[in-house]
Amino acid sequence: MTPCDHAPAHIRAIAPYQPGKPISELAREMGLDESAIIKLASNENPLGISPKARAAVAAGIDELALYPDGNGYALKSALAARLGVALNQLVLGNGSNDVLELAARALLAPGSSAVYAQHAFAVYPLATQATGATGIEAPAKDYGHDLAALRAALRPDTRIVFIANPNNPTGTLLDNADLYAFLKIVPADVAVVLDEAYGEFLEPAQRAPSIAWLAEFPNLIVSRTFSKAYGLAGLRVGYAVCHAAMADLINRVRQPFNVNSLALLAATAALSDDAFLAESKRVNDAGMAQLTAGFRQLGLDSIPSAGNFVCVRVGDAARVNRELLQRGIIVRPVGNYGLPEHLRVSIGLPEQNARFLVVLGEILTCHSRESGNPVRTSDQPDNLDSRVRGNDAQT
Ligand SMILES: *Cc1c(COP(=O)(O)O)cnc(C)c1O
Repeated sequence: MTPCDHAPAHIRAIAPYQPGKPISELAREMGLDESAIIKLASNENPLGISPKARAAVAAGIDELALYPDGNGYALKSALAARLGVALNQLVLGNGSNDVLELAARALLAPGSSAVYAQHAFAVYPLATQATGATGIEAPAKDYGHDLAALRAALRPDTRIVFIANPNNPTGTLLDNADLYAFLKIVPADVAVVLDEAYGEFLEPAQRAPSIAWLAEFPNLIVSRTFSKAYGLAGLRVGYAVCHAAMADLINRVRQPFNVNSLALLAATAALSDDAFLAESKRVNDAGMAQLTAGFRQLGLDSIPSAGNFVCVRVGDAARVNRELLQRGIIVRPVGNYGLPEHLRVSIGLPEQNARFLVVLGEILTCHSRESGNPVRTSDQPDNLDSRVRGNDAQT
């Protein structure tokens, strides 16, 4: 017997989260130069860090001997002003992943359950399982959340329903009126965690008025992150907005210094960098158009995505992924999400997207020659138009 054998069964049963492969790891494995590798695997911001955040981090280095502000006063004040909420409605997290886990830990226990959708973000089952609660997966509709199925899956012991909008990995987006109607029918004692990690990439008209909904729904928890559009994934900072009573509860299970001081400074600065945010969205929109046009030229279907990534159906995705890795391109296989024929590709810079499309085209051409069974139905990669090559994606 070891201590591990005595660990609770629900902990031993957890299958670890599979992150995108780091560039340094692939470089080691394949003997490649790090600079030659393209990573389109973790929905990171291809523009890097906002210049304002960079300056804030540089200025904060001298303070690193001190503990961070455990209340995150400066960041919370900036968020409160921007969102029109009170400071006591905010919970800061070590990434929004932390926020999701804190909500689970505050609200779930053995004997209760949480509901989430098929193909939804992998952290929901993980955070649920770690508490000993039961995870219930509701079937998806067209790769996205089926709100009727989620409603039907709720049980008397359900304490949380997790919704990613847009969803990762599928990129699907819910209709705001449908989402509002869902909030109306969810029992008042069930928390709805609305995960808006990709909200900044939406058109303003697409965005759910989720902060305004808080006035009507005390069971609503909106979670957001600085990892994606704000380009701060490596610093780990996210937040939840909810009712003060809920924030108070969640803050009780939070580590006192869960957000580090550089992350606090960077996020506060990034929040006011509207130019960087706008540029991130512009590059994302252009890259999404470039990739989806490229997929069409390759005769591949992709799932319409509202995020900074897109799932493309390539057939034997495990094999295509291996060959992409051999050629220095990291994307994300999503077999663990029940999508064994798709790869999730994060939107990169124009030249990264273009390179990915060329290599993908070459791989699929080889496969179809081997099998005599073309996956692709249209143009060869050498006929890619200028849009796909990224030449005019800057405009
Ligand atoms: C990336 C992501 C997050 C959180 O990322 P953090 O880096 O922990 O903030 C949360 N939800 C979804 C759906 C995501 O894709």
